[in-house]
Amino acid sequence: MAHDVTFIPGDGTGPELAEATRRVLEATGVLFNWDRHEAGIDEYERHGNPFPEATLRSLKTTGVGIKGPTTTPVGSGFRSVNVLLRKELDLYACIRPCKAYEGVRTRFPETDIVVVRENTEDLYAGIEFERGTDANAALREKLAELGSTVREDAGISIKPISVFGSERIVRRAFEYALANGRKKVVAAHKANIMKFSDGLFLEVARAVAPDYPDIDFEDRIIDNLCNQLVSRPEEYDVIVLPNLYGDIVSDLCAGMIGGLGLAGGANIGTEAAVFEATHGSAPKYAGQNRMNPTALLLSGVYMLDHLEETAAARAMESAIAAVIRKGDKVTYDLKPRRDDPTAVGTSQFADAVIEEMNA
Ligand code: NAD
Repeated sequence: MAHDVTFIPGDGTGPELAEATRRVLEATGVLFNWDRHEAGIDEYERHGNPFPEATLRSLKTTGVGIKGPTTTPVGSGFRSVNVLLRKELDLYACIRPCKAYEGVRTRFPETDIVVVRENTEDLYAGIEFERGTDANAALREKLAELGSTVREDAGISIKPISVFGSERIVRRAFEYALANGRKKVVAAHKANIMKFSDGLFLEVARAVAPDYPDIDFEDRIIDNLCNQLVSRPEEYDVIVLPNLYGDIVSDLCAGMIGGLGLAGGANIGTEAAVFEATHGSAPKYAGQNRMNPTALLLSGVYMLDHLEETAAARAMESAIAAVIRKGDKVTYDLKPRRDDPTAVGTSQFADAVIEEMNA
C-alpha cells in the first residue's frame, strides 16, 4: 500500500535537495502518494503567505511530511515557517541523530550522538516585547512592581519552560533510547542561573529518569556539555535539551560529524511527524546543484523508519554510508578540498545512492 506523504520542497536549495530525496525514496521500492505543497519565502513573494493553509491541512491529513529548508528573513518580514509548523502540529520533539560515517573528514570520528530537542517552548515560544512599544513599557512597569528592573531601551523575550513540556520531551528521549538500544540519556541545562525555567527542566528530568532503570541518566550544565562534547564525544549517547540549547547543540554535533550537509532530523508531534534536515536553505547556492543531499536523505531514512518500512530504511542508509565511504561520487563538502573538481552535484549524489541500492 502506498503511503500518503506531504511533500514540501521549501525554498533556496530546498527544491533540489527535496527532489533528490524524493527520487531516492522512490528507488527503495516503497510506494508513496506525494501530496506536494509549498511553503517558504518564494511562496510568500508569490502569494503573500509563507505557510499556506493548504500545506497545513495536507500535513494534518497525511500525518507525515518531508520538507526542504525554508528561509526566515532576519529581524523583519514573517515569522519562521518552521516555528509555525512546530506550533500548529505540536511537533514537540526534534530528534537529530548525529553519527560520523566512515569516510567523512572529522576530528571526532567516534561521534554517535542523538540530540533530542524540545521544540515548542523556551525562547522560541514567540513571546516577545519590542523595544519602544506600549506592551514593552507595560511589562517593564509590571516587572518593576515585582522588584525587577529592566532598562528602558531593552527588547524582551520570555522563556517559558513547563512541567508538561519538559516531561514529554524527557520521556521521548528515554523512549528513543529504549527503542534504539541506547544506554544513556544526558539532560542539558543552565539550572544554576535560570533556576525557575532550566531548574524546572532539570527537576522534571530527574523525576522521570527512575521510570527507565535500564537507561543511565546524568545531567550537564550546557557550557560544560559543549566543552565535553568536543573533548570526549564518545561519552555521549542521547542528549535531551530545551529548545534553544537543542538548536545550538544540533549544529555543534552536525559540525562534529562532518558538517551541516550530513545532519538529518525528525520533528515528531501529537498530530503529525515532519522530516527535515538540520541545515537551512543556503540561499546563495540555490539552483546550483551543489549542496549535499545527505541530511535530507537521512531525514527520509528516519521517515521510512517512522512508516515502519524498516528494510527500506536500512537499505537506504547503507547505500548513503557506502557512497560516503567510497568518497568518489560525493559533493564538494565531503572532498578533502572544497574546490576539488571531482566533486559531484546534488542530483549525481542521489544517482550514486540509487546505484548502491540497486547493486
Ligand atoms: P544554512 O544551514 O542554510 O547554511 C549555512 C552554510 O552551511 C551554507 O552556506 C553552507 O556552507 C553549509 N551548508 C548548509 N547546508 C548544506 C548542505 N546541504 N550541503 C553542504 N553544505 C551545506 O544556514 P543559514 O545561512 O544560517 O540559513 C539560511 C536560511 O535558512 C535562513 O533564512 C534560516 O532562517 C533558514 N533555516 C531554515 C531551517 C529549516 O528550514 N529547517 C533551518 C535552519 C535555518
